Amino acid sequence: PFEVLVVGGGPAGAAAAIYTARKGIRTGVVAERFGGQVLDTMAIENFVSVPYTEGPKLAAHLEQHVREYEVDLMNLQKAAKLIPAKVPGGLHEVVLENGASLKSRTVILSTGARWRQMNVPGEDQYKNKGVAYCPHCDGPLFKGKRVAVIGGGNSGVEAAIDLAGIVAHVTLIEYDSELRADAVLQRKLVTLPNVRIVTSALTTQVHGDGEKVTGLSYKDRNSDAHHDVDLEGIFVQIGLVPNTEWLHGAVGLTPRGEIEVDHRGETSQPGIFAAGDATTVPYKQIVIAMGEGSKAGLSAFDYMIRTEPA
Ligand code: FAD
Repeated sequence: PFEVLVVGGGPAGAAAAIYTARKGIRTGVVAERFGGQVLDTMAIENFVSVPYTEGPKLAAHLEQHVREYEVDLMNLQKAAKLIPAKVPGGLHEVVLENGASLKSRTVILSTGARWRQMNVPGEDQYKNKGVAYCPHCDGPLFKGKRVAVIGGGNSGVEAAIDLAGIVAHVTLIEYDSELRADAVLQRKLVTLPNVRIVTSALTTQVHGDGEKVTGLSYKDRNSDAHHDVDLEGIFVQIGLVPNTEWLHGAVGLTPRGEIEVDHRGETSQPGIFAAGDATTVPYKQIVIAMGEGSKAGLSAFDYMIRTEPA
């Protein structure tokens, strides 16, 4: 069996594996796609101390760093089930989709999350070419330009407030007849002169010139009228979904599916830790995922040295 089994190979999982391997404990990593969301990213300008890098390059560095150590890296393997140990100090079991079963004294869950997409024509084609999902990451790329934010929940309204300070103009598009964000955010939003709020609107298409985004179309759900908006950027903020469907019943999750962790990264099950975008820790960012992964790795080591094997 492993001493630490990391499930997920994004920034959080890679950091956790590096930290535990450096303690000399037997570490395995199972990843559906090593690199995680970083593989879908182009420009990265907020990876602190690296002013500019690109997703595929950072993912390659993550793998190179993990491979410096004796880590058993099982890429292209999906975990399907987690069976926590029955007794304190017992072995946890992770069952893979291919039927194989892995046992480990500690487990670190770092399966990340995925942005919910609009699923309209043009969205995929112009991803990273004007269609963006992370205002903290890509907001400054649209300095002085016109953008839309899709979604009037907390994340959409926060994004609109944030972007209004950077870009020339923000159009906020909400499907419902009213915004769903907290009242304090809505009060702030309506004071901003360069924000236009459109409700009861269904985004129907992303337009581009072949290279980058040039606009979008939406349908007014009351009148069925179609409208076009000229702009350079679209921030889709209709939900970040944690990849935790396979963990129901195994560890404590919030109603939104985020893994509940304490300040040391431990879940509701002793010896099972979690880190990164899959957890309740706010602000889904690479440096944060790496910090949390390192923390979970150290917590797993601490658990190992304090807990008698059953
Ligand atoms: P992820 O990166 O999501 O990795 C999850 C890992 O778990 C993957 O290896 C995945 O294959 C694996 N996995 C999932 N389910 C299973 C399973 N059942 N079994 C086995 N493995 C599984 N952040 C920034 O800081 N700066 C940026 O500029 C930036 N730009 C971004 C641009 C885009 C387009 C996107 C989508 C995100 C961006 N982010 C950026 C956010 C950043 O990528 C994430 O915060 C970060 O990758 C989270 O790391 P993670 O390790 O928690 O999860």
